[in-house]
Amino acid sequence: MKATSYNPFETAQKQFDRTADLLQLNQATRDLLRNPIREYHFSIPVRMDNGKTKIFRGFRVQHNDARGPSKGGIRFHPQETIDTVRALAMWMTWKTAVAEIPLGGGKGGVICDPHNLSKNEQEQICRGWVRQIVKNVGPYEDVPAPDVMTSAQHMLWMLDEYETIVGEKRPGFITGKPVGLGGSLGRKEATGYGVMITVREALKELNIEPKNTSASFQGFGNVARYAIELYQQMGGTVVCVSCWDQKDQTSYAYRKKEGIDLQELLSITDPFGGIDKAQAEALGYEVLPGDAWLEQDVDILVPAALENQITQENVNKVSGRVKIIAEGANGPTTDEADQYINERKIFIIPDLLANAGGVTCSYFEQVQSNMNYFWEKDEVLGKLDVKMTSAFISVSDFAKMNNLDMRSAAYVISVDRVAQACQDRGWV
Ligand code: GLU
Repeated sequence: MKATSYNPFETAQKQFDRTADLLQLNQATRDLLRNPIREYHFSIPVRMDNGKTKIFRGFRVQHNDARGPSKGGIRFHPQETIDTVRALAMWMTWKTAVAEIPLGGGKGGVICDPHNLSKNEQEQICRGWVRQIVKNVGPYEDVPAPDVMTSAQHMLWMLDEYETIVGEKRPGFITGKPVGLGGSLGRKEATGYGVMITVREALKELNIEPKNTSASFQGFGNVARYAIELYQQMGGTVVCVSCWDQKDQTSYAYRKKEGIDLQELLSITDPFGGIDKAQAEALGYEVLPGDAWLEQDVDILVPAALENQITQENVNKVSGRVKIIAEGANGPTTDEADQYINERKIFIIPDLLANAGGVTCSYFEQVQSNMNYFWEKDEVLGKLDVKMTSAFISVSDFAKMNNLDMRSAAYVISVDRVAQACQDRGWV
């Protein structure tokens, strides 16, 4: 989770270029899809608790909306850059396409560190972000959602500001809202559960029983904890999780060979997913350097934190036992590391497929919000399972039929759908 000079947008463009070659896209389609259709950069003045005004930088990038309104989260991160947001916006376009939901791709961000901001200051950032972009977002234009370090509470503040400005209730403007205030049951579980639904399907293909497997996770936020929950229900053993330690400004891996206790770890975790090191030690966890999550002798690795984590420098530390890498995070694997993983024939479930459960459930939330009719949790999770399983099977069948790895197959399917939509609309 270190800051580097790595540029995720270059990775995203390289992945796109390769896919465009495979699909033999014409030049106009390439030029259109290589870059965002629109992007907004703005300043958000915030009156801080000490009475002084501080200016925060905010972004919204709409990569493509040929298949429906732009869709994607808003990240709060001290190292946020416009190129990170561009990459993430492009990845959202492919993600909604591979999940076959009628939405495009976008992403937003604010350069800030919520660890050091009061509740009131965070609320002002959320409201300020909406004020700057209100004319260009909305239920039928661009629908934001939570992402790294943003929560249901942030979404509610944003919705409230939006509805105050437009003068009517439009709960479909944003997803990831609190349940009872327009949120969908199952949304908080959806990304993590979705990751595990794809792992379950991959294990089926490999003829391995989940109960005979073990896994190691990077991250202990919303994605990892629900992925762990479902994985443990499937009978799997999680031996290691790693996460950022705000106090020491580094990450640590927490290991228990016989399997971690999810509830026990959650009871010593802060709202950002940071585990209390001293308490973990007292509970018998081995505390290792953060990178150790990648080196565990397990069957499944789940990077569920940030981009650029499995790289040329550390990929050779992946144990020979690893059979599946399921990308809970967006863009955790660099291009070079990806080639190595393919050579080693590790089954990769790429981010756009593995973590599509979040946006799929966001789509369900939007539908419920627009209808003002809310579904039972079982219905939401049942529909999520159907969508994720069928997306997995389409990608896996396509990969086998065309002798492609899973990432390339997912890219070809999704870019083709988006390119087709742009052509059908007469844009290119
Ligand atoms: N931030 C999540 C993602 O990267 C969810 C986006 C959404 O729900 O719109 O997929």
